[in-house]
Amino acid sequence: MRNLLLLAMAVLGLLPGGAMAQEKAKALPQIRVLIITGDHGHAWRETTPFLKELLSKAGHHVDVTEKPGKDLTPENLAKYDVLVLNYRNTPKGAKENPDSVWTEANKQAFADAIRQGKGLVVYHHASAAFVGDTEWDREFEKIIAGGWRRQGYHGKMHEFVVTVRKEHPITRGIKEFKHGRDELYQNSVIPPGADILATAYSDKSKDPKNTGLHEPMIWISHYGKGRVYHNVLGHDVEAMKSSAGFQILFIRGVEWAATGETYYPSPVKPNSGPN
Ligand SMILES: [Zn+2]
Repeated sequence: MRNLLLLAMAVLGLLPGGAMAQEKAKALPQIRVLIITGDHGHAWRETTPFLKELLSKAGHHVDVTEKPGKDLTPENLAKYDVLVLNYRNTPKGAKENPDSVWTEANKQAFADAIRQGKGLVVYHHASAAFVGDTEWDREFEKIIAGGWRRQGYHGKMHEFVVTVRKEHPITRGIKEFKHGRDELYQNSVIPPGADILATAYSDKSKDPKNTGLHEPMIWISHYGKGRVYHNVLGHDVEAMKSSAGFQILFIRGVEWAATGETYYPSPVKPNSGPN
């Protein structure tokens, strides 16, 4: 009888830890992630394995392409739920790794995939990919929901606090967290309809170039049926390792872009964010 009562209480969420049990009860789907890289102007050979391990440890299946010129095809993209962009096109990268260059067909396949409902995660300097005056450059800016583009910049790298601005499945249980030495992107393009999830204060006392404003760090948007998570944090592996807050929000950003829900549990200390 007592066991039955305990079982009933557990089911109703009346026992301590009930919320956690409910969180765990949500079955993790098999999320298939493709990290697109092979050029960046940043240390993509170092950041890609870190991102792959972070997402794999969270229970997701992760593949990497360093040859988007070969792999961004409708048939290949159809295998994935979400694409993570750790890519920026550069003249140097095009020379060193010709298969990193996106053809017109690759661009079309990428845009179609997101428009038709595949998730997209834009990581850090991918925010500055395909900047220019062509029709594709303008469309790409719409797909990734703005970002660094032409007018973005950052001051000296420093430590800062990231503050959550909106309750959302991605930010559940996190109010703010201390983040280690990183670039603080400023003056990002935030398109109409985007929701800013987290900001960081750009402190002029750290660098006179800073804006003295609360700058968007993470925002979400849509392109067609596709969900888009845009995160400008994480210049290098050290910055990404510096806060569990970054890692939790990134994992959940991938989950949300893929499925519209999040599965990664809330931090142990609610409302403070881990560090
Ligand atoms: Zn950077």
